Amino acid sequence: MSRNYYMDYSELLKSSRLSLTQSRVLLLEILFETDYPLSGKEIEGIINGECDRATIYRNLNSFSEKGIVQRILADEAVKFKMNSEGKNETRNADHVHFECSICHKLICMKDLRVKDYNLPQGYSKIENQFLIVGICNHCNGK
Ligand SMILES: [Zn+2]
Ligand SMILES: [Zn+2]
Repeated sequence: MSRNYYMDYSELLKSSRLSLTQSRVLLLEILFETDYPLSGKEIEGIINGECDRATIYRNLNSFSEKGIVQRILADEAVKFKMNSEGKNETRNADHVHFECSICHKLICMKDLRVKDYNLPQGYSKIENQFLIVGICNHCNGK
């Protein structure tokens, strides 16, 4: 763990009014170092027993409430991804997500923008969630 990262995470937690705990720093490190969204279960697998399941999910929910991570609705689970600005980024879910039905990896397709639909009167958008389920290039052997 590099000292710089540790400092950044402590600032991030402090500015989000979350206390600095080892499990929060660990979670932030994992989310920061993974360039695709992870489910709680996948994170559990990476953490491998270093903190318990309840702690993981509780912290992921706090991160989401504070805008540190984005929640993305996938086919089988809610997945989490670090906001690129770290915090207070407007909910940037306006691109398409692709979930592989074989390896279950969720990929951000940043170049595929979600169309802005005209909603009926009285409805207002908070964010788009657009998921394509299919088979990824790796699983397709390409
Ligand atoms: Zn795949
Ligand atoms: Zn994304």
